[in-house]
Amino acid sequence: MNVEKFDSPFSYKRPTATVESIKEAIVYKLIFLIGRSPQEASQRDWLNATLYAVRDLATEGWITSARQARSEETRRVYYLSMEFLIGRTLSNAMMAEGVYELAKKALAELNVNLEDVLEKEVDPGLGNGGLGRLAACFMDSIATLALPGVGYGIRYEYGMFRQEIEDGRQVEKPDTWLDKGAPWEFIRPSKRHTIRFGGTIHFEGKKCIWNSADEVVALAYDQVIPGYANDSAATLRLWGAYAGDRFDLADFNRGDYASAVHDRTLSKNISRVLYPDDSTWSGRELRLRQEYFLVSASLQDIIYRHKRIHGTIENLADKVAIHLNDTHPALAIPELMVILIDQEGYEWKKAWDMTRRIFSYTCHTLMSEALETWPVEMMAHILPRHLQMIFEINDYFLEYVQTYVTTDMDFIRRVSLIEEGDHRKVRMGWLSVVGSHKVNGVAAIHSDLMVTSTFADFARIYPERFTNVTNGITPRRWIGVANPELSALFDKYIGKEWRRDLSQLTLLKDKIQDPELKKSVSQIKYNNKVKLANYIKQELGVEVSPEALFDVQVKRIHEYKRQILNLLHIIARYNAMLANPEKNWQPRVFILAGKAASAYYAAKQTINLINDVAKVINNDERLQGRLKLVFIPNYSVSLAELIIPAADISEQISLAGTEASGTSNMKFALNGALTLGTLDGANVEILDNVGAENIFIFGNTVEQVETLRRNGYRPFDYYQQDEQLRQVVDQIISGRFSPNDPHRYHQLLQSLQYHDYYQAFADFRSYVEAQQKVDEKYHNREAWVDSTLQNIVNMSYFSSDRTILEYAEKIWKIKPIK
Ligand SMILES: *Cc1c(COP(=O)(O)O)cnc(C)c1O
Repeated sequence: MNVEKFDSPFSYKRPTATVESIKEAIVYKLIFLIGRSPQEASQRDWLNATLYAVRDLATEGWITSARQARSEETRRVYYLSMEFLIGRTLSNAMMAEGVYELAKKALAELNVNLEDVLEKEVDPGLGNGGLGRLAACFMDSIATLALPGVGYGIRYEYGMFRQEIEDGRQVEKPDTWLDKGAPWEFIRPSKRHTIRFGGTIHFEGKKCIWNSADEVVALAYDQVIPGYANDSAATLRLWGAYAGDRFDLADFNRGDYASAVHDRTLSKNISRVLYPDDSTWSGRELRLRQEYFLVSASLQDIIYRHKRIHGTIENLADKVAIHLNDTHPALAIPELMVILIDQEGYEWKKAWDMTRRIFSYTCHTLMSEALETWPVEMMAHILPRHLQMIFEINDYFLEYVQTYVTTDMDFIRRVSLIEEGDHRKVRMGWLSVVGSHKVNGVAAIHSDLMVTSTFADFARIYPERFTNVTNGITPRRWIGVANPELSALFDKYIGKEWRRDLSQLTLLKDKIQDPELKKSVSQIKYNNKVKLANYIKQELGVEVSPEALFDVQVKRIHEYKRQILNLLHIIARYNAMLANPEKNWQPRVFILAGKAASAYYAAKQTINLINDVAKVINNDERLQGRLKLVFIPNYSVSLAELIIPAADISEQISLAGTEASGTSNMKFALNGALTLGTLDGANVEILDNVGAENIFIFGNTVEQVETLRRNGYRPFDYYQQDEQLRQVVDQIISGRFSPNDPHRYHQLLQSLQYHDYYQAFADFRSYVEAQQKVDEKYHNREAWVDSTLQNIVNMSYFSSDRTILEYAEKIWKIKPIK
């Protein structure tokens, strides 16, 4: 192992993994890179010094695997995503390099506590939720499987806002994650590309000339994604906007420095802030510019690299796969066409064949209103050449449809890339399907529904194009980092290989009746609950008992995810407990967390209501502490790592047919929580894997939801007929939980009584009954622990390694680097 990767004359002192050398490296970095004396170093200085030292361990493997991937035979994948929610890097990297314990010892010898230092690392919030976290798990798997793959994203200066709760309400504070420096990244000053916007186009013969009006420079910042124990690493390249050389010398010479740099500050706006996940951004010009910024920088980078290796782009489609994570980077399709035709001189048909062989696309939703569209007018203004190209693609495509599929004008109008009307729009979902050779959904049920609903017309045109790849999560972070005690238990019973091959968990199946194992699993859950209880006490001042059942729903706050259904049951339970205080109630702690998009009124009201109800419940002494409700502010990857391993129940209660997959459902089950969920997204496959006795399924199925909707769903009937539901709703409306502002929830509740688009009332009874079954089962602790174990050992299918191998084989056609 201890061989230098670069031979003479490039010999150097190679970092080694011993306590002594890590200690030396940390002190060296502290003094010579950070410029601090050990006596004066703060916890953050120690953190940064340790990060630099650990990064060194990953760096050699990183550059050598990148060099190997540059071989002529290699076909590579480029994963384009507007979000990468990678979480903290240090623990994960230390585990990947196998130096966690060594670094802990090294720091201890320097009188520094590793755990304290770890808590100082900021969580780069470069994503909203599931989609961004998925991209991060995928990069981890690409690195660990040593696949030739690069992630491309944007280095937002401000990530997802920091959520504070004031008076029960969400308040958004800027997330200044870069303020404290970003020691994990490598800045690549030489990797810069110019991104053009606006201007006009004209034709010279058949050739289209684009005279752009303004430009921005994209600068590369590389994040090393270490593979697990494989001396290899993947690259996540994030683009930051930079004003480049454009500097108005005339202004400057006149002494008007402010005007001279004016343009620069405007340009920098492009990578300034991550857009929240709501419906308001799609009309915003800056978002369109961001999407093009990512696409243009990444494609220039890909083409540049390809030419350097191959000297031609003739074989581009043989060597390059580009994946679109949702429609956000869909402009890459016309962008590549523009490059091939305008710059490289390819004829249209050949360029289009290459393009479609290169691209693939993952759809993340079923709600067609969530698919992006851009006003034609706006696109004409910002990307005139690309709009022209989209028109050309559309003509070509519609002619194909008319020739080979149908001449039905209604059908043609529906599948056109341009939505007609007073304000014409470009349909980015349609563009992604037409320009890709494979389109996948993210769970079996989602992929099935995709071809019968959203993309039904396209499934008729291109039946072979649609496929499923069920999402997954990386066991390195979601067990290894998040649940060290459970990791140690696995190591003891089945060895360490599970980190790289989660199917090893099936080895535990033989030992599932081992009383020692059961005892350990339940003790570990308890310990994790104590940790979370301490955090809750410290952050919220609320006392919760780790003896209680921890019932958890953590995810973005959204109507379709139905936090409100959870709340309706909590209040119903509260009422029932007060009505019958002597009953032997199973103590419960309900835990919720999640951010609401800042412009999403109903979601913000939901947070307010959760906190109002919590205040009443947590201060009601009649309950004798048997019921608690807490909302933990500022949900993030780090908080997920703390909360999920402490859960007994995982709430996955979206309306059937709305959650494409979900991934927190997988994290919970793998950590031994039992799912309480609807037949939605990956819950369906979790049920198949863990077995019906080990999961609580409730609520209407997709078919029942559709039937209700078709026949005219009347939530008011449920309200009238269900006494318990009526009481809860009346209490909220009458201001029982907001006595100083009794009308606070009128609108929210009225919308439920009369519309209830996500059918919370329809599923209420079934949900309450399922919750009773949860109590009964928890009462029989033996049976509960059995089910916990059954969940753990049957979750190996949900490793993102399995997911990525499917992508590699079925879609990208790539193989591991030798
Ligand atoms: C896993 C994860 C999500 C996705 O949660 P879902 O319940 O699947 O929507 C969102 N945010 C963070 C921080 C996560 O770790």
